[in-house]
Amino acid sequence: MKPSSLVKPSVLSQPVYEPGRPIEDVARELGIDPAGIVKLASNENPFGASPRAIAAARTALERGQLYPDGACFSLRQKLAQVHGLGADQFVVGNGSNEIIELIGHAFIGPDDEVVMGRPEFVVYSLVTHLFGARAVEVPLVRFRNDLGALARAVTKGTKVVFVASPNNPTGTANTEAELLGFARSLPESVICVVDEAYTEFQESPPDLRPLIREGRNVICLRTFSKIYGLASLRIGYGYAGAEMAGLLNRVRQPFNVNAIAQAAALAALDDIEFTEKCARENRAGLRRLEEGFRGLGLEFVPSSANFVLVKVGDGASLFAALQGRGMIVRPLKSYDLPEWVRVTVGTAEQNERLLRELAAILKAQRRG
Ligand code: PMP
Repeated sequence: MKPSSLVKPSVLSQPVYEPGRPIEDVARELGIDPAGIVKLASNENPFGASPRAIAAARTALERGQLYPDGACFSLRQKLAQVHGLGADQFVVGNGSNEIIELIGHAFIGPDDEVVMGRPEFVVYSLVTHLFGARAVEVPLVRFRNDLGALARAVTKGTKVVFVASPNNPTGTANTEAELLGFARSLPESVICVVDEAYTEFQESPPDLRPLIREGRNVICLRTFSKIYGLASLRIGYGYAGAEMAGLLNRVRQPFNVNAIAQAAALAALDDIEFTEKCARENRAGLRRLEEGFRGLGLEFVPSSANFVLVKVGDGASLFAALQGRGMIVRPLKSYDLPEWVRVTVGTAEQNERLLRELAAILKAQRRG
């Protein structure tokens, strides 16, 4: 019998996640040196990770024969200190993607409804589908999550609501007051997940800890893949009430987060100077890109994150043209935004190169 006739039907209808194209892939295809390619497609940190995090990762590698601390004891202690919460209020995952999946394991079952924006980070709908539940997608309004409409989409069948702020792929954020009001308006039977993957880039990040102190069913998600520059190590975390965190810890694999990632994350949290520098550079880069887009007559969505959505006409062909010039951005057809591309803020030099290549492509297009 063919495996496809044995597999669970939901697997065959599972949507496919399209990641940003790896540099090596593009280099192979174009037959050029990977060193000449710039990837601004996956909202990674163009400055890499803190040297202290890299040193800690190297040291941890020397003890690679040992299983990691499955409980992430030291990292959770540190996170507790950083956030002013208890160590038992954290769950650490193989990227915050894993925490989204753990929420599925623990809470999402067949026929549950899961409410989310559209377009929204695609892993929410992938995980919803994986657990046989139904994604209820609520259109963004002016590229921002419409929290009122999300709340109105909640029914007796709703188990989880996902909100990313800043949102991916649009870079827009909801205010602290909006997020607090929204979470407080939800019925007790609904778990509110606020994905804060990009919150460290915000000038004044919202503080949602009051919701947790009030005993609400809220889970906040963070990642070391963005401002901390550790995307390849796969480490992220969630914080919530202790009971909620305990349930999520119960459904994870015993050694879900490797020791190298744990050590790097711990050191990264200590290097506040590096993080602040990255946030500053990102804001300057955003301003420069926005100014450049304006100069080229391109519409863009003002962003609170480390990427920006820009309207280019035909996103797929602009993606291809930029790729031919060694620059990888993210086309957004799968996010219902075929006229737009998403560009990660790079180093000053990378941003200038992007604007130059973009200008050259548009000039050729307008001439043709
Ligand atoms: N949430 C959002 C909104 C994201 O954009 C991403 C990464 N693209 C993630 C979560 C997942 O991050 P990671 O699994 O690398 O921690």
